[in-house]
Amino acid sequence: MVDLWRQKLRENFTSWTELSHFLKLPLDVGVSPRFFPLNIPRRLVEKMEKGNPKDPLLLQFLPTVKEDDKTEGFVKEPVSDQSFRLSPRLLKKYRDRVLLLPTSACVMNCRFCFRKNFPYADQESISLEKELHQIGQDTTIEEVILSGGDPLSLSNERLLQIVQQLNQFPHVKRLRFHTRYSIGIPERIDEGFLDLIQAFSGIVYFVIHTNHPNEWDDEVLNAHTRLRKAGAILLSQTVLLRGVNDQIEILESLCRYLVNGGIKPYYLHQLDRVEGTAHFEVQREEGKALIQELWSRLSGYGIPTYVEEIPFMAGKTPI
Ligand SMILES: *Cc1c(COP(=O)(O)O)cnc(C)c1O
Ligand code: SF4
Repeated sequence: MVDLWRQKLRENFTSWTELSHFLKLPLDVGVSPRFFPLNIPRRLVEKMEKGNPKDPLLLQFLPTVKEDDKTEGFVKEPVSDQSFRLSPRLLKKYRDRVLLLPTSACVMNCRFCFRKNFPYADQESISLEKELHQIGQDTTIEEVILSGGDPLSLSNERLLQIVQQLNQFPHVKRLRFHTRYSIGIPERIDEGFLDLIQAFSGIVYFVIHTNHPNEWDDEVLNAHTRLRKAGAILLSQTVLLRGVNDQIEILESLCRYLVNGGIKPYYLHQLDRVEGTAHFEVQREEGKALIQELWSRLSGYGIPTYVEEIPFMAGKTPI
């Protein structure tokens, strides 16, 4: 039997022509890009306001002509990760943790993502032999972060294999998932998935990428409650985006929703300066003012750390 979440994934919108028709928007609001195609889960599309080209969910995923703009300082690879590659799918940039990239498939394609300039492929059967061997050899690695792509694109069987291999390394104390699956297709958090995270011998963290309160509803929240009850620690990360979440009311309501749902707002990211994303940038001074205002509205733990990625720093840099 095909997993329910895989069936849902097939319902993703991948054609702008179809989406523009569904949302009752003129065709010239968007474009059909040659690479990094439009890809949006149906559940998110159904939350978009019909006839509104500025809908905050739509803006995150709609390819437009603005992506062709060339802006000073916006480059193909702003974070310079390549030099930290231990092997093709293992990145060690920071001292006690590594990024393991088991897939490049995503549940949704976000226009501001640095991955838009990299080729895409579905790589379920990719071998991680070399990468896992390196993790086993390097006892300074306490945390393995599964990122990508979206690691939840892999099957439960494949993820369980990875967990079991990591269990053989006593120095690996923490396993972290970076995902947007639970927002786009909450059905992904199924029994098999809950079983496999409980099979890890250390602590499991999730960092949920969420940018707007409209991404949430009871069913999405319930998926996160299942993760929490299975023993995972839940954090969120948000990219500060012009026109999407650069207003205090939006950020406040997102953070409030998260803390009420048992998710600690972890990071608010300054946009990485990826080519074709300049229209999303919010000035750092504006970002700082938003954070300061949040302090008068929420508990201290409800406030994310505002950070930027500066190449060759030992960690993210707080602004
Ligand atoms: C952001 C990032 C991490 C995780 O950083 P934390 O501050 O631990 O959340 C790890 N490795 C790389 C390469 C990163 O870019
Ligand atoms: S890696 Fe994350 S931010 Fe980038 S396209 Fe995939 S889901 Fe979106």
